[in-house]
Formats: sequence, structure tokens, C-alpha cells
Amino acid sequence: MHRHLLIATVVLAGTVVAACGDGGTSAGGGDGPRIAVTNTILGDVVRNLTGDLATVEVVVPSGADPHEFQPSARQVAALREAEVVVANGAGFEAGLDGAISGAEDDGAVVFEAIEHVAPLATAAGDDEHHDDEDDGHGHGPVDPHFFTDPARMATATEALATVLADEVPALATTEFRDRAAAYVDDLRALDAEVEATLADVPAERRKLVTDHDVLGYFGERYGFEIVGAVIESSTTQAAPSASDLDDLAATLRAEDVPAVFVDASAAGSLADTLADEVGDVAVVELFIESLGDDGSGADTYAGMARTNASRIAGALAP
Ligand SMILES: [Zn+2]
Repeated sequence: MHRHLLIATVVLAGTVVAACGDGGTSAGGGDGPRIAVTNTILGDVVRNLTGDLATVEVVVPSGADPHEFQPSARQVAALREAEVVVANGAGFEAGLDGAISGAEDDGAVVFEAIEHVAPLATAAGDDEHHDDEDDGHGHGPVDPHFFTDPARMATATEALATVLADEVPALATTEFRDRAAAYVDDLRALDAEVEATLADVPAERRKLVTDHDVLGYFGERYGFEIVGAVIESSTTQAAPSASDLDDLAATLRAEDVPAVFVDASAAGSLADTLADEVGDVAVVELFIESLGDDGSGADTYAGMARTNASRIAGALAP
């Protein structure tokens, strides 16, 4: 029976991926309570928590930029039909905020992960070229990218497990609580593993330059200074201006930083621009805004954290 359910879940996941190609989210037909999750990162976390005890639907597909994503009518309907909606919060999925409010009005339990961790402010602000008025994604003063710190993810996941067990009758079971406790332990072990991977990078080389402000939580957790961003903003929408690139080149020289880290979903054009304008710097792709595809090394949250840590260590270690 257990095996049969597992196969059914795999088939269902295939259906969701296919449906995403048409801009819809499959409503799914699986057993258990329906949990809608806004993004792939939290989607993997929720699937690890619930296994086949719930039907989990992810709205924004992998490789898509959650800051930019606008849901289809079917996806809005799927959110509104869910018993539980799990979101990042702090404007990370601003295009879904209306649908999430609608789900809450319809009686869904809405869990925003950012509400359960110690928040950090967005880093931008001391750059005269940055203009808050240009940030059209609703990013407030709180940096939404908490998931770059696995310790905070463990904290948020523990809180989510408690809410699910308390609010969803089908998950008020020992089986669910045991699964959840084991996965939270895995996330704490992941935090220690990332720290060990980064041990190769000496303190004076712990300087990060990124495409937009995405690694603030990572930097705070593991002792890295964020010395600059191509786009001094927590949104991905703005394109770098010539003066942004001049400033970036000056920062890279002054800080003797050998690499710029860019999100895989935005890497292509930005990498070319940087290579042309800034010259002698490695452009290293990370998985930040969403999980990668199968085989990318980042098709789970844990894989994403490991892959990013080893790429950062590889680029910055002497
Ligand atoms: Zn972002």
C-alpha cells in the first residue's frame, strides 16, 4: 500500500510539472489535505515534512523568478482551494499576495515563513544610485531571502510543523511529528555541513558580491561580509546601469574580490555584461531564487545549500 501511494505521488508530480508548462497549477488528485506552497524551495521542505500524508502543490515553477511571477487564473483558484498556504513572505512572491489573502479569507491557514525567523533588513541604502522607488516588487525593509541560512530554515520548518500538526487534523499524528522532527534534525545537520564546507575560506576572503541583495542571511550566519551587489536592490527587475557597473568594478578592485555570484535564473545575460564591463572576475552561478532542475545538484533544498556552499568555497578559497 505504501509503495502504491509513492507511485501515485510521483505520477501526480509529473502532472503538476506538465500543467505548469501551460501556466496552470494542477489541482492534483492525491490523498490527504491540500497544501499550496508558493515556491520550489519551500515546496521541497513541505514535501519532506509531509511525505504522502498530504497533497503538495507548488505555484511558481523551478527556474522562474518568484519576484516577477504572476499567477494564472487556475493557479489563483488552486491557492484558494488549499487548506494550507505556505509562503515565504516579505514580498518574496508579491504577485501572489492577492491570491494568498483570498485563500485566507476562504478559511485557509496561511503560514509565512519569514514571520518565524529573526529578520534582517535589506542591505541596500548607502548607494546613491539605489532608488527605493524603483523597487516594484513590494520588497519592504525586510530582506525576504532567509532560506540562504539553513539554520533559519530549520527554525521556520519547526514552526511550520507545529502549525500543521495543530491546524490540520490529518497531520495531528505521531507519524507526522516523527517525520517532521527527523527533517528538522536534517536541516540542523545541513547547517553544520555548510559551515564545514566554508571552513576553507579564510576570514579575510569572506567577501561576497552578488547580482542583487540575496545573501544577507547567509553572510550573517557564516561570517561573510556583503561588499556589493550589481544591482543595489533586493529585486531582480532592474538592469545594471553603466554607473552601477563602474561602481562594481571599483568595489571588486578595492576589496580584491575574485568572483561575483549570480542567480542561475538570471545568470546568462548578467554574466556576459560583467565579463565585458568588469573584466577579470569569475562569474559563479548559484541557486538562490528557486531550486534547479533534476540533475543540477540543486533539485532539493539541501542539495541547493550544499551546491551553493561548495561553489562559494571553490571560488573564494586560496
Ligand atoms: Zn530575490
